[in-house]
Amino acid sequence: MRPPKFTPRADYRAQENLRVRESINLSEKFPRLKSLTVELEYFNSEGVPKNSHIKYTVNPAHAKSVLRFDCLNPECVGGDYDLSDGLSGAIAAKQSVATGEMVCKGWMSKTTIDRLRCGNILRYKLTLAYSNVRPRETAVAARAVQAA
Ligand SMILES: [Zn+2]
Repeated sequence: MRPPKFTPRADYRAQENLRVRESINLSEKFPRLKSLTVELEYFNSEGVPKNSHIKYTVNPAHAKSVLRFDCLNPECVGGDYDLSDGLSGAIAAKQSVATGEMVCKGWMSKTTIDRLRCGNILRYKLTLAYSNVRPRETAVAARAVQAA
């Protein structure tokens, strides 16, 4: 019998994908988030652009609240980028634009585990829109306008 194949990269990705699937939707976690646009730019560990610029709009009703993106290093093990905390922080601070940079904390490849980090860089820009008032506040505001 052959020993089981050593597939740390596939194992990690499977576990991460499960974490995303099992997370609640964005609209459940952040009821006031109306829309979210994500812009991503990838760089290698020296900051050289990877010619990869991604921009897309997320529908909070369908998107998962764990916001993670794969590292572009095809050999990377245990890394990738999780923007969930950056997103939570931006929403807590009611920011309409949040930018940041994350360094991949994975390993360069499965042969360099415990020796050489991946270090690829992701720069991101989140553009957020909120539903500004709750229905109750709308009613109070309308009454205030009428009274004035
Ligand atoms: Zn990586």
